[in-house]
Amino acid sequence: MEIIVGKTAGFCYGVKNAKDKTENVLIENKENKVYCLGELVHNKQVVEKLENMGLTVIENVEELPKSDNKNNKVIIRAHGVGKEVYEKIEELNYQYVDLTCPNVLSIHKIVQEYIKNGYYVLLIGQKNHPEVLGTYGWCEGKCSIVETEEDIEEICKKIQSNKILVVAQTTFSLEKFNKFVEIIKTKLNNELEVRNTICNATKLRQEETEKLSKEVEAMVIIGGKNSSNTKKLYDIASKITSTILVETAAELDLEELKKYKKIGIMAGASTPKESIDECIEALKSI
Ligand code: SF4
Repeated sequence: MEIIVGKTAGFCYGVKNAKDKTENVLIENKENKVYCLGELVHNKQVVEKLENMGLTVIENVEELPKSDNKNNKVIIRAHGVGKEVYEKIEELNYQYVDLTCPNVLSIHKIVQEYIKNGYYVLLIGQKNHPEVLGTYGWCEGKCSIVETEEDIEEICKKIQSNKILVVAQTTFSLEKFNKFVEIIKTKLNNELEVRNTICNATKLRQEETEKLSKEVEAMVIIGGKNSSNTKKLYDIASKITSTILVETAAELDLEELKKYKKIGIMAGASTPKESIDECIEALKSI
């Protein structure tokens, strides 16, 4: 069997940076409490490893107890958080370690700058995604989140501002983003600024997944079941060829995969190299 592994499979630089720096923080803070707001990455294996090193994962800042020691830390993960979360962390007597991906920080800057200049923001992304909620938290309430085509109709009817900025969640599908922008243009006569803030790492991974899917008989997508960017890779590949989505090598149906002579492997931005290597080994053993 021939196995082709996508060049862009696995950790993007934002996630790698967050994971590496969190490990360092944990090593340097054995005497202090270290919390993380939400799972550092959408990957069970990575999160368990960090928890074993001393990290406490809590859902959100509301669950953070008051700290009696200023050296206790709160990790802000690559998704970023809204302005009020930074304030709350300091109020509760913690230091924050800001591991927000530079790409996400740049969206926070863009929305603040445009809002200052009188724009209303249309943020294209998933309504409950932490990154989207974080960006929303920099918009002073002058923002609507667009997740579906139906949202566009409803939101455009209500918009009062003449100046509109459109931005996207970094891991949103490029195809859908372009489609939504075209629809928005037909609904609004307002001054429209479109900033494609989809991360290049995401774009390249999606493009490579499409290309690779056309070259193989089956695709194996590796990543957390709750990772939206992994799910998108699955969606892209499954439209082209037989595709399975697994979190670990143990989930591979080797009997089923035996029938293919050429298999492609792609992995989401939060999938560690170890998980990819384990899957390659398992496939090689067939
Ligand atoms: S996918 Fe892109 S924006 Fe998101 S953490 Fe990775 S590099 Fe940053």
